[in-house]
Amino acid sequence: MLKDFLEKNKTVFKLVCGAGNECAEDVEKLTYVYSKAGAQIFDICAKPEILLSAKRGIEKSGITKDKYICVSVGMKGDPHIAKATIDKSLCINCGICDRVCPNNAIKNHNIIESKCIGCSVCENKCPNKSISMVEKDIDLAVELPKLIEMGIDCIELHATSEYDEDIWEKWNIINRYYDGILSVCIDRLNLGNKQVLARLKKMLQQRKPYTTIIQADGIPMSGCDDEYKTTLQAVAMAEIIQDANLPVYIFISGGTNSKTSKLAKICNIDYKGIAIGSYARKLVRKDLMENNIDKAILSAKDLVKECLC
Ligand code: SF4
Ligand code: SF4
Repeated sequence: MLKDFLEKNKTVFKLVCGAGNECAEDVEKLTYVYSKAGAQIFDICAKPEILLSAKRGIEKSGITKDKYICVSVGMKGDPHIAKATIDKSLCINCGICDRVCPNNAIKNHNIIESKCIGCSVCENKCPNKSISMVEKDIDLAVELPKLIEMGIDCIELHATSEYDEDIWEKWNIINRYYDGILSVCIDRLNLGNKQVLARLKKMLQQRKPYTTIIQADGIPMSGCDDEYKTTLQAVAMAEIIQDANLPVYIFISGGTNSKTSKLAKICNIDYKGIAIGSYARKLVRKDLMENNIDKAILSAKDLVKECLC
């Protein structure tokens, strides 16, 4: 069980495939490579077909002991579940979006929706403001029972938006259907420190001590570069959670990279896990595309080792 695993391990590594990553092939490859590399938790979108891909990837890696799958549930206002869309009437065919997408989700100025993880890089770089982000939500009461039946180890709620009503509705549904470990991913983009803590304390009223992970998100999906400054906000957010003395496991995310564990230690953060998405995926992307699987595993191994030491 994930709870026992968290209790007995000092630090764990969580690979974030992307709450909006609905590409079954990509998720299978990422879970395979990072399972081989020593990752223990795999964060995927809340879709049955993607859960199957992640299970396949782990199984093919030949290492199934102490591997746990967490499904991520986004909500209204959550960038993790938004998808880019191009207004062709405004597009000037410059090709910038094709080049800047970190997830290879744009081909010839067309969005491959299943691969889009909602990072907004293309939207920000488009010179003609032709790209916008559209939210995609799921019917949790329908999808969740299917996922639980198939076997999951954790459910993560992205509780960062300003839409209180949506958060409480989803939090209540999750707590009603699932009695395992829950994770709350939260950042400060929409909420100040006080509001973040007030929300978390209210959420934890429904939880027993140490059955919840708080994933302290610095700047969501910002970790493409392997620099200290990229991971600074993630560590700062973890410190805010730590100082609140909540009965939770702290994970650090959102701008995480190979420097995160060093910086967190310098700052005396007593974290349980490091969750890496953008940087972990970028690190192996080229090798996966060129089918250099062994090379991808070696790079992934170095990253996992840095985080676990
Ligand atoms: S960056 Fe914008 S204008 Fe350029 S090709 Fe992409 S959508 Fe079109
Ligand atoms: S750059 Fe980000 S938002 Fe745009 S298509 Fe790629 S993954 Fe989606």
